[in-house]
Amino acid sequence: MTEGDPAKKAALKVLGVRKNYGPVVAVAGVDLVVDEGEFFTLLGPSGSGKTTLLRLIAGFERPDAGRIELGGRDVTSVPPYLRDTNTVFQDYALFPHMSVAENIAYGLRVKHVFTGLGGRRPNQLSGGQRQRVALARAVVNEPEVLLLDEPLGALDLKLRQEMQIELKQIQKEVGITFVYVTHDQEEALTMSDRIAVMSNGQIEQVGPPVEVYERPATEFVAGFIGISNVLVRDGVRFVVRPEKIRMLAEGESAPSGMIVEPGEVEEVIYVGMSTRYVVHLERGEHLVAVRQNMDALGDAERFEGRSVRLAWTADHTFVLDKGR
Ligand code: ADP
Ligand code: MG
Repeated sequence: MTEGDPAKKAALKVLGVRKNYGPVVAVAGVDLVVDEGEFFTLLGPSGSGKTTLLRLIAGFERPDAGRIELGGRDVTSVPPYLRDTNTVFQDYALFPHMSVAENIAYGLRVKHVFTGLGGRRPNQLSGGQRQRVALARAVVNEPEVLLLDEPLGALDLKLRQEMQIELKQIQKEVGITFVYVTHDQEEALTMSDRIAVMSNGQIEQVGPPVEVYERPATEFVAGFIGISNVLVRDGVRFVVRPEKIRMLAEGESAPSGMIVEPGEVEEVIYVGMSTRYVVHLERGEHLVAVRQNMDALGDAERFEGRSVRLAWTADHTFVLDKGR
């Protein structure tokens, strides 16, 4: 599903876009439609072509093939400053000689963010404050599309999570279309209306967070967003997510109607809120099951090195289109 919502207007269309750097294929034929007001995320590992695609949309790069439309206008050969876009980078695209107030210019509609900071220069601000200023400056001009390349990448986890919520709120309030680049799957799931998962310059899947997580189209998507847990049955590859698996101790009976596979717990990994169990199935595959630690010590001792049975329902498994 690379199409946007047919009931909405398209803010951005990317049609058959390709970009090579010498022998390197950075963007290998991408088609995308982003709706007006949508929070759209390009998610993929390092080197998958996210930044190149964003730079093509901004006009900093020219495609070798294909077309880019903004608000229904073909902008493929329009320079960046004549496109109705603005870009926010990871490394705070601020002017170091300007004060915060000057950086944002005037008419700022994003409130409560700069109390007491108006006179400071970027080197007098924390990373989070700098990114808020960069963002505000980008939003002030109300571009048709705001392009953001890993804008929270340099921040520590706690601040990043706060800013994710804040950014999403700002986006909702101002109603600007966001095209957001990240390699962080949780960030993508938290913030996006839709996610395009990229690999090797191509889009593997486009869909809302729930869809790409619960119904990954390819093994790459399954593995990149979450733990893949791939099983092969009669040549068909399918996935079952760790939190959908019930782990039964010896003697514990499986609820009726579930698929049950015996195996042995090979590894127990305590991760605070939950514990991960790596189970070697008698059939050969390894599956990860996750249990929430309802009790302080979890169930690690009960299961470590033990024979268990894993159980899940058929509607929690889904077939992968193609193996990668
Ligand atoms: P991402 O942002 O997903 O990490 P990039 O778009 O930066 O990926 O890079 C995609 C591929 O294109 C990589 O193999 C990268 O090395 C290559 N690449 C990006 N920019 C250039 C450039 N200016 N010159 C040569 N190769 C580049
Ligand atoms: Mg990048």
